[in-house]
Amino acid sequence: MQVTAAFAVGKNVPFDFREVRLEAPRPDEVLVEIVASGICHTDLSAKDELLGLPLPMVLGHEGSGVVRAVGSQVRHVAPGDHVVLSGDSCGACRKCQTGLTSYCDAFVERNLTGLRGDGTTPMTLDGEAARGRFCGQSSFASHAVVAAQSAIKVPKALPLELLGPLGCGLITGVGTVMNALKPRPGTRIAVFGVGTVGLAAVMGAVLSGCEQIIAVDPNTERLALARDLGATDCLAAGADVAQEIVARTSGGCDYAVECSGSVEAIQAALACLGRPGWVAQVGAPPVGTSIDLDIGAVGYGRGIRGVVLGEANPQTFVPYLASLYGDGRLPFDRFVRFYDFADLDRAVADAARGEVVKPIIRM
Ligand SMILES: [Zn+2]
Ligand SMILES: [Zn+2]
Repeated sequence: MQVTAAFAVGKNVPFDFREVRLEAPRPDEVLVEIVASGICHTDLSAKDELLGLPLPMVLGHEGSGVVRAVGSQVRHVAPGDHVVLSGDSCGACRKCQTGLTSYCDAFVERNLTGLRGDGTTPMTLDGEAARGRFCGQSSFASHAVVAAQSAIKVPKALPLELLGPLGCGLITGVGTVMNALKPRPGTRIAVFGVGTVGLAAVMGAVLSGCEQIIAVDPNTERLALARDLGATDCLAAGADVAQEIVARTSGGCDYAVECSGSVEAIQAALACLGRPGWVAQVGAPPVGTSIDLDIGAVGYGRGIRGVVLGEANPQTFVPYLASLYGDGRLPFDRFVRFYDFADLDRAVADAARGEVVKPIIRM
């Protein structure tokens, strides 16, 4: 079928909207009519050629939509179902078999090449193979053919155009707290960088019963949002923020989530910990970044570890997040702004300037 897709072609070049041909779904695939797609920081970095990914490619990886056709082996969704799309995974490796799909052995091939795991693509442009499977979906398009495991059924009672960010930004922030850190009720947690992922981490901390939730960001509007969503302390990022956190928590945090990727924030996240204390590193500094680490500072019960996509199994965690939203316990609609698909460039520019926390384009 003929569909419309927006190709990222390079830094500072507008998206190229093209008519492309999309194959019918294979036996283990699903055709989805995209209703809306969130824009995530990873889309911006990929378009600006900071990730070394091949372009042109159709980006977008927070899609939501309606199933229009399913392959013969697909059982968990049917035409007409509402779905949120998430990344692809092989289902066969040791990590996938234990539900840790974000550490799938085939993660790179299946999510970052814009191709299926076997190197083919469901999309052709002017008769040539086109990269139309970014993060398992390429949702900056009117339709997508995705692997069955990328399509997650969500209730029809919820506003479908809002739900795409559950598949990346929300799963990452909430999942990092609830699945990776697993804070005990009554503990203290600091969140560095309160964009979508950090705000989701704040909400995850509230849901986990953390007693003190400290948000750190240079942007005062975002700190106000964090307070609205349950942060107990909001601090401007700065040189002595770690000392301030230690003072406010009488001895340091039990946990920190670092979402900004800045070296100063990573160091502050380590320095604000009590003992024991863990930093979950979620922000992605440029490849090759290193930090000075006094091993004495992380000895005696402290540590830092990277966390990918909230260490969640999307097939179970996305419906859980959707039900939390339905119950009013995950009010992420407070920080989204909708744009038309045709205004994708404006939405990306607004996100890059920090003017909007979570842009969502509507097809
Ligand atoms: Zn993302
Ligand atoms: Zn796998």
